Amino acid sequence: MNCKLCNQVMVVGKYVCNTNDYRIIDNNNNLVSIIESHDIPSDDDEIGEYIDVYYCSCDYKRSYEKYEKQIETEQELIKRVFENIYTTKTINDVLVKMVDAGLGTTEEIKNMLKSSNPSVTDWSF
Ligand SMILES: [Zn+2]
Repeated sequence: MNCKLCNQVMVVGKYVCNTNDYRIIDNNNNLVSIIESHDIPSDDDEIGEYIDVYYCSCDYKRSYEKYEKQIETEQELIKRVFENIYTTKTINDVLVKMVDAGLGTTEEIKNMLKSSNPSVTDWSF
C-alpha cells in the first residue's frame, strides 16, 4: 500500500479512540500522532475502539486508510471480538461469549476459531 499523497510505502498501525483523543498508534501501542481531541466520557464504550490502518508520516491526518488485517495472534482476536484495544478480556471470555451467542459448544468454537484463523499460531487452548 502506497500513500496517495506522497507515494511512499505506508506503515501498519491502528486508529484508536483514546481517553481524550483520536490517535494513531504503531504495532507496539506507541503513540504516532494525535489526530484530534474529543469530549467523550471516559466510561463510554467508544473509548478503546479501534480500526487497523495504514498510515504515512507525510500527513497523519489525511493519509491513513482502513484495511482488513489478517489476525495473527490470539491477543489480536480477543481485541477484535471485544472491539477494544485496551480490553483485559481473555480467550476464555471469547469462548463464553460465543457459547452464549449459541454458536456451538466450547470445543466446537475452539475448532471453528482455529480453522477460520489459520494464521494464528499462538492459541493457548
Ligand atoms: Zn505520504
